[in-house]
Amino acid sequence: MARARPLAALGRAGDRAAYDLVIRGGTVFDGRGGPGRVADVAIQGGKIVEVAPRVAQRGSEELDARGLAVTPGFVDIHSHAEGNVRADPRCESAIRQGITTVVVGADGSSSFSGEADQSFAAWADQLAGVRPSINFASMVGLGSVREAVVGEADRRATADELARMVAMVERALGEGACGVSTGLEYAPGAFASLEELIALSRPAAARRLPYASHLRNEDDRLLESMDEALAVGKGAGCAVQVSHLKQQGTRNWPKYEASIARLDAARAGGTEAWFDVYPYEAYSTGMSNLFPISALDGGTSAFLARLADPAQQPVLRAYAQAKIDLLGGWDQIQIASVRAPEDRAAEGKRLGAYAASLGRDPYAVTVELLQRNQGSVATLGFGMTDANIDRLLAHPWGMVCSDGGAFAVDGPSRRGSPHPRGAGTFPRVLGRYVRERKALSLEAAIPKMTAVPAQRVRLTDRGQLVPGFAADVVLFDPATVADRATFANPFQYPVGILAVVVNGQVAVRDGQRTGEGGGRVLRAG
Ligand SMILES: [Zn+2]
Repeated sequence: MARARPLAALGRAGDRAAYDLVIRGGTVFDGRGGPGRVADVAIQGGKIVEVAPRVAQRGSEELDARGLAVTPGFVDIHSHAEGNVRADPRCESAIRQGITTVVVGADGSSSFSGEADQSFAAWADQLAGVRPSINFASMVGLGSVREAVVGEADRRATADELARMVAMVERALGEGACGVSTGLEYAPGAFASLEELIALSRPAAARRLPYASHLRNEDDRLLESMDEALAVGKGAGCAVQVSHLKQQGTRNWPKYEASIARLDAARAGGTEAWFDVYPYEAYSTGMSNLFPISALDGGTSAFLARLADPAQQPVLRAYAQAKIDLLGGWDQIQIASVRAPEDRAAEGKRLGAYAASLGRDPYAVTVELLQRNQGSVATLGFGMTDANIDRLLAHPWGMVCSDGGAFAVDGPSRRGSPHPRGAGTFPRVLGRYVRERKALSLEAAIPKMTAVPAQRVRLTDRGQLVPGFAADVVLFDPATVADRATFANPFQYPVGILAVVVNGQVAVRDGQRTGEGGGRVLRAG
Protein backbone atom coordinates (compact mmCIF):
# COMPACT_ATOMS: atom_id res chain seq x y z
CA MET A 1 0.00 0.00 0.00
CA ALA A 2 1.18 3.53 -0.76
CA ARG A 3 2.79 5.86 1.74
CA ALA A 4 0.70 8.12 3.89
CA ARG A 5 -0.55 11.26 2.28
CA PRO A 6 -2.09 14.10 4.18
CA LEU A 7 -5.84 14.04 3.92
CA ALA A 8 -7.26 17.01 2.12
CA ALA A 9 -10.80 18.11 1.65
CA LEU A 10 -11.27 18.07 -2.09
CA GLY A 11 -13.49 21.08 -2.03
CA ARG A 12 -17.00 21.93 -1.06
CA ALA A 13 -19.69 21.78 -3.65
CA GLY A 14 -22.24 23.67 -1.59
CA ASP A 15 -25.87 23.19 -2.43
CA ARG A 16 -25.10 20.96 -5.38
CA ALA A 17 -23.62 18.27 -3.15
CA ALA A 18 -25.70 15.12 -2.99
CA TYR A 19 -24.06 13.69 0.11
CA ASP A 20 -22.80 14.99 3.43
CA LEU A 21 -19.45 13.26 3.11
CA VAL A 22 -17.67 11.20 0.47
CA ILE A 23 -14.47 9.29 1.23
CA ARG A 24 -12.61 8.86 -2.05
CA GLY A 25 -10.31 6.17 -3.35
CA GLY A 26 -9.36 4.27 -0.20
CA THR A 27 -8.92 0.53 0.13
CA VAL A 28 -12.17 -0.47 1.77
CA PHE A 29 -12.32 -3.36 4.24
CA ASP A 30 -16.03 -3.55 4.98
CA GLY A 31 -15.69 -5.47 8.26
CA ARG A 32 -17.05 -8.78 6.98
CA GLY A 33 -13.64 -10.22 6.08
CA GLY A 34 -12.09 -10.67 2.69
CA PRO A 35 -9.55 -8.54 0.88
CA GLY A 36 -9.76 -4.77 0.60
CA ARG A 37 -11.01 -3.19 -2.60
CA VAL A 38 -10.58 0.35 -3.83
CA ALA A 39 -13.88 2.20 -3.49
CA ASP A 40 -15.59 5.44 -2.54
CA VAL A 41 -17.82 5.60 0.52
CA ALA A 42 -20.75 8.02 0.63
CA ILE A 43 -22.40 9.17 3.85
CA GLN A 44 -25.70 10.97 4.31
CA GLY A 45 -27.66 11.69 7.48
CA GLY A 46 -25.23 9.73 9.63
CA LYS A 47 -25.57 6.55 7.55
CA ILE A 48 -23.49 4.78 4.93
CA VAL A 49 -25.50 5.19 1.72
CA GLU A 50 -23.18 3.99 -1.02
CA VAL A 51 -19.96 1.98 -1.34
CA ALA A 52 -18.90 1.79 -4.97
CA PRO A 53 -15.81 1.91 -7.19
CA ARG A 54 -16.81 5.43 -8.13
CA VAL A 55 -19.47 7.55 -6.41
CA ALA A 56 -20.56 10.08 -9.02
CA GLN A 57 -22.20 12.66 -6.76
CA ARG A 58 -20.17 15.12 -4.74
CA GLY A 59 -20.12 15.41 -0.98
CA SER A 60 -20.41 18.62 1.01
CA GLU A 61 -17.13 17.40 2.43
CA GLU A 62 -14.78 14.96 0.76
CA LEU A 63 -11.80 13.07 2.20
CA ASP A 64 -8.95 11.83 0.02
CA ALA A 65 -8.26 8.27 1.18
CA ARG A 66 -5.93 7.16 -1.62
CA GLY A 67 -3.25 4.89 -0.16
CA LEU A 68 -5.18 4.44 3.08
CA ALA A 69 -7.27 1.64 4.51
CA VAL A 70 -10.92 2.59 5.07
CA THR A 71 -12.68 0.41 7.65
CA PRO A 72 -15.64 0.51 10.00
CA GLY A 73 -14.91 2.38 13.23
CA PHE A 74 -13.42 0.06 15.79
CA VAL A 75 -15.78 -1.55 18.29
CA ASP A 76 -14.00 -2.10 21.61
CA ILE A 77 -15.82 -5.07 23.11
CA HIS A 78 -14.36 -4.67 26.61
CA SER A 79 -13.62 -1.11 27.70
CA HIS A 80 -13.42 0.95 30.87
CA ALA A 81 -13.94 4.28 29.12
CA GLU A 82 -16.92 5.14 31.36
CA GLY A 83 -14.53 5.92 34.22
CA ASN A 84 -13.45 9.28 32.84
CA VAL A 85 -16.20 10.16 30.38
CA ARG A 86 -18.03 12.61 32.63
CA ALA A 87 -14.82 14.42 33.55
CA ASP A 88 -13.60 14.40 29.95
CA PRO A 89 -16.18 13.46 27.30
CA ARG A 90 -13.57 13.88 24.55
CA CYS A 91 -12.41 10.27 25.18
CA GLU A 92 -9.26 11.30 23.33
CA SER A 93 -7.19 8.16 23.78
CA ALA A 94 -10.04 6.06 22.41
CA ILE A 95 -11.09 8.08 19.39
CA ARG A 96 -7.51 8.72 18.31
CA GLN A 97 -7.07 4.93 18.07
CA GLY A 98 -10.04 4.76 15.72
CA ILE A 99 -12.42 3.43 18.39
CA THR A 100 -15.92 4.72 17.62
CA THR A 101 -17.89 2.42 19.96
CA VAL A 102 -16.97 1.13 23.39
CA VAL A 103 -18.76 -1.64 25.26
CA VAL A 104 -18.47 -0.77 28.94
CA GLY A 105 -19.94 -2.33 32.08
CA ALA A 106 -17.20 -4.94 31.93
CA ASP A 107 -15.75 -7.16 34.65
CA GLY A 108 -18.99 -7.33 36.61
CA SER A 109 -19.10 -3.60 37.19
CA SER A 110 -21.57 -1.27 35.48
CA SER A 111 -22.58 2.31 36.23
CA PHE A 112 -26.13 1.08 36.84
CA SER A 113 -27.53 -1.93 38.64
CA GLY A 114 -30.99 -2.18 37.12
CA GLU A 115 -32.80 -0.76 40.15
CA ALA A 116 -35.48 1.83 39.47
CA ASP A 117 -33.26 4.70 40.65
CA GLN A 118 -30.11 3.23 39.08
CA SER A 119 -31.38 2.14 35.71
CA PHE A 120 -29.74 1.72 32.33
CA ALA A 121 -32.14 4.36 30.99
CA ALA A 122 -31.09 6.94 33.59
CA TRP A 123 -27.42 6.20 32.92
CA ALA A 124 -27.98 6.52 29.17
CA ASP A 125 -29.72 9.88 29.58
CA GLN A 126 -26.93 11.25 31.74
CA LEU A 127 -24.23 10.01 29.41
CA ALA A 128 -25.93 11.43 26.31
CA GLY A 129 -26.06 14.75 28.16
CA VAL A 130 -22.26 15.06 28.29
CA ARG A 131 -22.03 14.51 24.50
CA PRO A 132 -19.20 11.98 24.40
CA SER A 133 -17.08 11.83 21.26
CA ILE A 134 -17.67 8.09 20.85
CA ASN A 135 -20.63 5.73 21.10
CA PHE A 136 -21.24 3.85 24.34
CA ALA A 137 -22.95 0.51 24.85
CA SER A 138 -22.96 -1.23 28.23
CA MET A 139 -23.37 -4.64 29.70
CA VAL A 140 -25.01 -4.97 33.10
CA GLY A 141 -22.42 -5.95 35.69
CA LEU A 142 -23.52 -8.82 37.90
CA GLY A 143 -21.14 -7.60 40.62
CA SER A 144 -22.97 -4.26 40.66
CA VAL A 145 -26.30 -6.08 40.83
CA ARG A 146 -25.11 -8.28 43.72
CA GLU A 147 -23.67 -5.33 45.60
CA ALA A 148 -27.01 -3.51 45.40
CA VAL A 149 -29.01 -6.48 46.68
CA VAL A 150 -26.75 -8.72 48.79
CA GLY A 151 -24.06 -6.22 49.75
CA GLU A 152 -20.38 -7.00 50.20
CA ALA A 153 -20.61 -10.20 52.23
CA ASP A 154 -19.32 -13.58 51.08
CA ARG A 155 -22.59 -15.49 51.32
CA ARG A 156 -25.22 -17.07 49.13
CA ALA A 157 -28.13 -14.97 47.97
CA THR A 158 -31.52 -15.90 49.43
CA ALA A 159 -34.31 -16.96 47.08
CA ASP A 160 -35.90 -13.54 47.47
CA GLU A 161 -32.63 -11.75 46.75
CA LEU A 162 -32.03 -13.89 43.71
CA ALA A 163 -35.49 -13.06 42.36
CA ARG A 164 -34.80 -9.35 42.85
CA MET A 165 -31.45 -9.64 41.07
CA VAL A 166 -33.03 -11.47 38.13
CA ALA A 167 -35.63 -8.71 37.85
CA MET A 168 -32.91 -6.05 37.83
CA VAL A 169 -30.99 -7.83 35.07
CA GLU A 170 -34.23 -8.21 33.09
CA ARG A 171 -34.92 -4.53 33.43
CA ALA A 172 -31.41 -3.47 32.38
CA LEU A 173 -31.45 -5.74 29.33
CA GLY A 174 -34.96 -4.62 28.48
CA GLU A 175 -33.76 -1.02 28.44
CA GLY A 176 -30.85 -1.79 26.14
CA ALA A 177 -27.90 -3.29 28.02
CA CYS A 178 -25.99 -5.56 25.66
CA GLY A 179 -25.08 -8.54 27.84
CA VAL A 180 -24.22 -9.54 31.38
CA SER A 181 -20.69 -9.39 32.74
CA THR A 182 -18.88 -10.81 35.72
CA GLY A 183 -15.57 -10.08 37.39
CA LEU A 184 -15.06 -13.21 39.46
CA GLU A 185 -11.67 -12.07 40.75
CA TYR A 186 -13.34 -9.06 42.35
CA ALA A 187 -15.55 -8.60 45.39
CA PRO A 188 -18.45 -8.82 45.75
CA GLY A 189 -19.07 -10.41 42.31
CA ALA A 190 -16.76 -13.28 43.21
CA PHE A 191 -19.15 -14.41 45.95
CA ALA A 192 -21.74 -15.59 43.43
CA SER A 193 -22.30 -19.32 43.04
CA LEU A 194 -22.57 -21.12 39.71
CA GLU A 195 -26.34 -21.41 40.21
CA GLU A 196 -26.63 -17.66 40.77
CA LEU A 197 -24.57 -16.90 37.67
CA ILE A 198 -26.75 -19.18 35.57
CA ALA A 199 -29.97 -17.66 36.90
CA LEU A 200 -28.74 -14.13 36.20
CA SER A 201 -27.56 -15.06 32.70
CA ARG A 202 -30.85 -16.58 31.55
CA PRO A 203 -32.34 -13.16 30.73
CA ALA A 204 -29.35 -12.60 28.42
CA ALA A 205 -29.94 -15.97 26.73
CA ALA A 206 -33.53 -14.99 26.03
CA ARG A 207 -32.27 -11.93 24.12
CA ARG A 208 -29.38 -13.75 22.41
CA LEU A 209 -26.87 -11.64 24.33
CA PRO A 210 -23.66 -12.97 25.86
CA TYR A 211 -22.36 -13.79 29.30
CA ALA A 212 -18.95 -12.04 29.41
CA SER A 213 -16.64 -13.09 32.18
CA HIS A 214 -13.41 -11.94 33.71
CA LEU A 215 -12.60 -15.41 34.98
CA ARG A 216 -12.22 -16.38 38.62
CA ASN A 217 -8.55 -17.02 37.97
CA GLU A 218 -6.20 -16.44 35.01
CA ASP A 219 -3.09 -18.29 36.15
CA ASP A 220 -2.79 -21.66 37.91
CA ARG A 221 -6.56 -22.27 37.87
CA LEU A 222 -7.20 -20.81 34.42
CA LEU A 223 -8.65 -23.98 32.92
CA GLU A 224 -10.96 -24.68 35.85
CA SER A 225 -12.12 -21.07 35.65
CA MET A 226 -12.83 -21.46 31.95
CA ASP A 227 -14.88 -24.54 32.80
CA GLU A 228 -16.95 -22.45 35.18
CA ALA A 229 -17.59 -19.71 32.60
CA LEU A 230 -18.56 -22.26 29.95
CA ALA A 231 -20.83 -24.03 32.46
CA VAL A 232 -22.68 -20.73 32.95
CA GLY A 233 -23.21 -20.51 29.20
CA LYS A 234 -24.42 -24.08 29.00
CA GLY A 235 -26.66 -23.75 32.03
CA ALA A 236 -28.22 -20.49 30.89
CA GLY A 237 -28.20 -21.27 27.19
CA CYS A 238 -26.29 -18.13 26.23
CA ALA A 239 -23.08 -17.36 24.37
CA VAL A 240 -19.93 -17.01 26.45
CA GLN A 241 -17.36 -14.26 25.93
CA VAL A 242 -14.19 -15.01 27.90
CA SER A 243 -12.85 -11.57 28.73
CA HIS A 244 -9.20 -10.74 27.96
CA LEU A 245 -8.14 -14.39 27.65
CA LYS A 246 -4.58 -14.85 28.84
CA GLN A 247 -2.23 -17.31 30.46
CA GLN A 248 -0.58 -15.56 33.40
CA GLY A 249 2.80 -16.57 34.75
CA THR A 250 5.56 -18.39 32.87
CA ARG A 251 4.50 -21.82 34.05
CA ASN A 252 1.00 -21.25 32.65
CA TRP A 253 2.04 -20.08 29.18
CA PRO A 254 1.84 -23.66 27.83
CA LYS A 255 -1.90 -23.67 28.68
CA TYR A 256 -2.71 -21.86 25.43
CA GLU A 257 -3.65 -25.09 23.62
CA ALA A 258 -5.75 -26.36 26.51
CA SER A 259 -7.53 -22.98 26.70
CA ILE A 260 -8.55 -23.28 23.07
CA ALA A 261 -9.49 -26.94 23.54
CA ARG A 262 -11.94 -25.86 26.28
CA LEU A 263 -13.62 -23.50 23.82
CA ASP A 264 -13.65 -26.23 21.15
CA ALA A 265 -15.36 -28.65 23.50
CA ALA A 266 -17.93 -26.05 24.52
CA ARG A 267 -18.75 -25.32 20.89
CA ALA A 268 -19.07 -29.01 20.15
CA GLY A 269 -21.55 -29.14 23.02
CA GLY A 270 -23.64 -26.31 21.59
CA THR A 271 -22.34 -23.29 23.53
CA GLU A 272 -21.18 -20.36 21.43
CA ALA A 273 -17.78 -19.58 22.92
CA TRP A 274 -15.69 -16.51 22.07
CA PHE A 275 -12.97 -14.48 23.70
CA ASP A 276 -11.34 -11.09 23.53
CA VAL A 277 -7.67 -10.26 23.99
CA TYR A 278 -5.53 -7.14 24.35
CA PRO A 279 -2.07 -6.94 22.80
CA TYR A 280 0.18 -6.43 25.83
CA GLU A 281 2.31 -8.59 28.10
CA ALA A 282 1.02 -6.86 31.23
CA TYR A 283 -2.45 -6.81 32.76
CA SER A 284 -3.95 -4.12 34.99
CA THR A 285 -5.85 -4.72 38.19
CA GLY A 286 -6.17 -3.58 41.77
CA MET A 287 -3.31 -4.20 44.19
CA SER A 288 -5.80 -6.08 46.37
CA ASN A 289 -5.64 -8.77 43.67
CA LEU A 290 -2.41 -9.97 45.35
CA PHE A 291 -4.60 -11.27 48.18
CA PRO A 292 -7.14 -14.09 48.42
CA ILE A 293 -10.72 -13.08 47.62
CA SER A 294 -11.80 -14.32 51.07
CA ALA A 295 -9.84 -11.37 52.50
CA LEU A 296 -12.36 -9.05 50.78
CA ASP A 297 -15.39 -10.58 52.54
CA GLY A 298 -17.35 -7.67 54.00
CA GLY A 299 -15.78 -4.95 51.90
CA THR A 300 -12.83 -2.61 52.00
CA SER A 301 -12.75 -1.80 55.71
CA ALA A 302 -12.89 -5.50 56.58
CA PHE A 303 -10.06 -6.11 54.12
CA LEU A 304 -7.89 -3.38 55.60
CA ALA A 305 -8.57 -4.69 59.11
CA ARG A 306 -7.37 -8.15 58.05
CA LEU A 307 -4.21 -6.66 56.52
CA ALA A 308 -3.50 -4.97 59.85
CA ASP A 309 -4.18 -8.08 61.93
CA PRO A 310 -0.88 -9.75 62.96
CA ALA A 311 -2.65 -13.09 63.36
CA GLN A 312 -3.68 -13.10 59.69
CA GLN A 313 -0.42 -11.78 58.31
CA PRO A 314 1.39 -15.11 57.73
CA VAL A 315 -1.38 -16.45 55.49
CA LEU A 316 -1.91 -13.20 53.60
CA ARG A 317 1.81 -12.65 53.11
CA ALA A 318 2.36 -16.19 51.85
CA TYR A 319 -0.49 -15.79 49.36
CA ALA A 320 0.87 -12.48 48.03
CA GLN A 321 4.39 -13.87 47.84
CA ALA A 322 3.19 -16.86 45.84
CA LYS A 323 1.53 -14.51 43.34
CA ILE A 324 4.76 -12.49 43.12
CA ASP A 325 6.81 -15.66 42.63
CA LEU A 326 4.44 -16.72 39.84
CA LEU A 327 5.19 -13.46 38.02
CA GLY A 328 8.92 -13.63 38.76
CA GLY A 329 9.49 -10.98 41.41
CA TRP A 330 8.23 -7.70 42.88
CA ASP A 331 9.45 -5.72 39.88
CA GLN A 332 6.89 -7.52 37.72
CA ILE A 333 4.32 -5.27 39.41
CA GLN A 334 4.11 -1.59 38.42
CA ILE A 335 2.11 0.90 40.45
CA ALA A 336 -0.33 2.65 38.13
CA SER A 337 -2.30 5.03 40.32
CA VAL A 338 -2.95 5.90 43.94
CA ARG A 339 -5.43 8.12 45.75
CA ALA A 340 -3.25 9.55 48.52
CA PRO A 341 -1.23 12.61 47.43
CA GLU A 342 1.70 11.49 49.61
CA ASP A 343 2.04 8.34 47.50
CA ARG A 344 2.17 10.10 44.11
CA ALA A 345 5.89 9.30 43.81
CA ALA A 346 5.01 5.61 43.58
CA GLU A 347 3.02 6.04 40.35
CA GLY A 348 4.79 4.55 37.35
CA LYS A 349 7.37 2.75 39.53
CA ARG A 350 8.06 -0.97 39.79
CA LEU A 351 7.07 -2.19 43.25
CA GLY A 352 10.39 -3.87 44.06
CA ALA A 353 12.44 -0.88 42.94
CA TYR A 354 10.15 1.53 44.76
CA ALA A 355 10.43 -0.42 48.01
CA ALA A 356 14.21 -0.59 47.58
CA SER A 357 14.34 3.18 47.08
CA LEU A 358 12.63 3.53 50.46
CA GLY A 359 14.89 0.91 52.03
CA ARG A 360 11.78 -1.14 52.84
CA ASP A 361 10.40 -4.65 52.48
CA PRO A 362 8.10 -4.73 49.40
CA TYR A 363 5.33 -6.61 51.22
CA ALA A 364 5.27 -3.98 53.98
CA VAL A 365 5.15 -1.23 51.33
CA THR A 366 2.26 -3.05 49.62
CA VAL A 367 0.24 -3.17 52.84
CA GLU A 368 0.97 0.46 53.66
CA LEU A 369 -0.04 1.63 50.21
CA LEU A 370 -3.33 -0.23 50.52
CA GLN A 371 -3.95 1.21 53.99
CA ARG A 372 -3.18 4.80 53.03
CA ASN A 373 -5.26 4.56 49.82
CA GLN A 374 -8.35 2.85 51.30
CA GLY A 375 -7.55 -0.29 49.32
CA SER A 376 -7.61 1.60 46.03
CA VAL A 377 -4.23 1.19 44.31
CA ALA A 378 -4.15 0.30 40.61
CA THR A 379 -1.30 -1.90 39.44
CA LEU A 380 0.05 -3.49 36.29
CA GLY A 381 1.37 -7.06 36.30
CA PHE A 382 3.85 -8.32 33.73
CA GLY A 383 2.87 -11.95 33.28
CA MET A 384 2.06 -12.79 29.65
CA THR A 385 4.03 -13.64 26.51
CA ASP A 386 3.92 -12.30 22.95
CA ALA A 387 4.01 -15.86 21.60
CA ASN A 388 0.54 -16.47 23.03
CA ILE A 389 -0.74 -13.00 22.12
CA ASP A 390 0.14 -13.74 18.48
CA ARG A 391 -1.96 -16.90 18.55
CA LEU A 392 -4.85 -15.44 20.52
CA LEU A 393 -5.15 -12.50 18.13
CA ALA A 394 -5.01 -14.80 15.11
CA HIS A 395 -7.52 -17.31 16.42
CA PRO A 396 -10.87 -17.16 14.58
CA TRP A 397 -12.86 -16.81 17.83
CA GLY A 398 -10.66 -14.04 19.19
CA MET A 399 -11.63 -10.38 19.15
CA VAL A 400 -9.56 -7.32 19.96
CA CYS A 401 -10.35 -5.42 23.14
CA SER A 402 -8.50 -2.65 24.95
CA ASP A 403 -9.75 -3.33 28.50
CA GLY A 404 -8.49 0.24 28.88
CA GLY A 405 -9.65 3.56 30.16
CA ALA A 406 -10.08 6.68 28.06
CA PHE A 407 -7.74 9.54 28.93
CA ALA A 408 -6.05 12.52 27.34
CA VAL A 409 -2.59 14.02 27.31
CA ASP A 410 -4.15 17.16 28.75
CA GLY A 411 -7.02 17.92 31.10
CA PRO A 412 -8.59 16.14 34.06
CA SER A 413 -8.16 12.58 32.79
CA ARG A 414 -4.36 12.83 32.77
CA ARG A 415 -3.79 11.12 36.11
CA GLY A 416 -1.43 8.46 37.43
CA SER A 417 0.36 6.12 35.05
CA PRO A 418 -2.39 4.00 33.45
CA HIS A 419 -1.90 0.94 31.29
CA PRO A 420 -0.93 2.10 27.78
CA ARG A 421 -3.65 -0.12 26.25
CA GLY A 422 -6.07 2.76 26.81
CA ALA A 423 -4.22 4.72 24.12
CA GLY A 424 -2.53 2.09 21.99
CA THR A 425 -4.46 -1.16 21.57
CA PHE A 426 -5.92 -0.99 18.07
CA PRO A 427 -2.95 0.71 16.34
CA ARG A 428 -0.69 -1.76 18.17
CA VAL A 429 -2.54 -4.73 16.73
CA LEU A 430 -2.36 -3.20 13.24
CA GLY A 431 1.28 -2.12 13.53
CA ARG A 432 3.09 -4.56 15.78
CA TYR A 433 1.04 -7.74 15.33
CA VAL A 434 -0.20 -7.40 11.73
CA ARG A 435 2.62 -5.50 9.99
CA GLU A 436 5.69 -6.39 12.04
CA ARG A 437 5.10 -9.80 13.61
CA LYS A 438 2.74 -10.98 10.85
CA ALA A 439 0.69 -12.80 13.45
CA LEU A 440 -2.41 -12.25 11.32
CA SER A 441 -3.31 -10.52 8.07
CA LEU A 442 -4.91 -7.11 7.86
CA GLU A 443 -8.08 -8.57 6.35
CA ALA A 444 -8.30 -11.09 9.19
CA ALA A 445 -7.72 -8.40 11.82
CA ILE A 446 -10.41 -5.93 10.71
CA PRO A 447 -13.49 -8.12 11.42
CA LYS A 448 -12.14 -8.83 14.94
CA MET A 449 -12.24 -5.09 15.60
CA THR A 450 -15.54 -4.30 13.89
CA ALA A 451 -18.28 -6.61 12.62
CA VAL A 452 -17.63 -9.57 14.90
CA PRO A 453 -17.80 -7.70 18.23
CA ALA A 454 -20.77 -5.63 17.03
CA GLN A 455 -22.64 -8.84 16.19
CA ARG A 456 -21.76 -10.49 19.50
CA VAL A 457 -23.54 -7.74 21.45
CA ARG A 458 -26.21 -7.15 18.82
CA LEU A 459 -25.31 -3.64 17.83
CA THR A 460 -27.09 -4.37 14.61
CA ASP A 461 -26.20 -1.25 12.61
CA ARG A 462 -22.52 -1.04 13.65
CA GLY A 463 -19.27 -2.57 12.54
CA GLN A 464 -19.77 -2.77 8.77
CA LEU A 465 -19.19 -0.40 5.88
CA VAL A 466 -22.38 -1.40 4.16
CA PRO A 467 -25.29 0.82 3.04
CA GLY A 468 -27.79 1.24 5.87
CA PHE A 469 -25.19 0.94 8.61
CA ALA A 470 -24.27 3.88 10.85
CA ALA A 471 -21.41 5.94 9.44
CA ASP A 472 -18.61 5.10 11.88
CA VAL A 473 -15.43 4.99 9.79
CA VAL A 474 -11.65 4.96 10.26
CA LEU A 475 -8.99 5.91 7.71
CA PHE A 476 -5.50 4.69 8.57
CA ASP A 477 -2.21 4.04 6.85
CA PRO A 478 -1.34 0.34 7.13
CA ALA A 479 2.32 1.16 6.41
CA THR A 480 2.77 3.52 9.35
CA VAL A 481 -0.01 2.92 11.87
CA ALA A 482 1.54 2.34 15.30
CA ASP A 483 0.96 2.82 19.00
CA ARG A 484 3.21 5.21 20.90
CA ALA A 485 1.88 4.83 24.44
CA THR A 486 4.30 2.87 26.62
CA PHE A 487 4.41 1.58 30.18
CA ALA A 488 6.90 4.38 30.94
CA ASN A 489 4.79 7.05 29.22
CA PRO A 490 1.21 6.08 28.43
CA PHE A 491 0.18 9.65 27.55
CA GLN A 492 1.03 9.45 23.86
CA TYR A 493 -1.44 9.11 21.01
CA PRO A 494 -0.85 6.69 18.16
CA VAL A 495 0.31 7.60 14.66
CA GLY A 496 -1.16 6.63 11.32
CA ILE A 497 -4.85 7.06 12.25
CA LEU A 498 -5.68 9.89 9.86
CA ALA A 499 -9.44 10.29 10.03
CA VAL A 500 -12.25 9.05 12.27
CA VAL A 501 -15.93 9.54 11.52
CA VAL A 502 -18.58 9.00 14.22
CA ASN A 503 -22.25 8.92 13.15
CA GLY A 504 -21.29 10.77 9.99
CA GLN A 505 -19.37 13.55 11.73
CA VAL A 506 -15.64 13.91 11.13
CA ALA A 507 -14.07 13.72 14.60
CA VAL A 508 -10.44 13.34 13.48
CA ARG A 509 -9.21 14.92 10.25
CA ASP A 510 -5.58 14.96 9.06
CA GLY A 511 -4.77 13.14 12.30
CA GLN A 512 -6.12 16.09 14.34
CA ARG A 513 -9.23 16.28 16.49
CA THR A 514 -12.02 18.50 15.21
CA GLY A 515 -13.89 18.88 18.50
CA GLU A 516 -17.03 17.14 17.31
CA GLY A 517 -18.88 15.22 20.04
CA GLY A 518 -20.95 12.93 17.88
CA GLY A 519 -21.22 9.84 20.08
CA ARG A 520 -24.47 8.24 21.21
CA VAL A 521 -25.64 5.66 23.69
CA LEU A 522 -26.37 2.45 21.80
CA ARG A 523 -28.95 -0.17 22.76
CA ALA A 524 -28.71 -3.82 21.87
CA GLY A 525 -31.08 -5.41 19.39
ZN1 LIG B 1 -11.10 -7.70 33.50
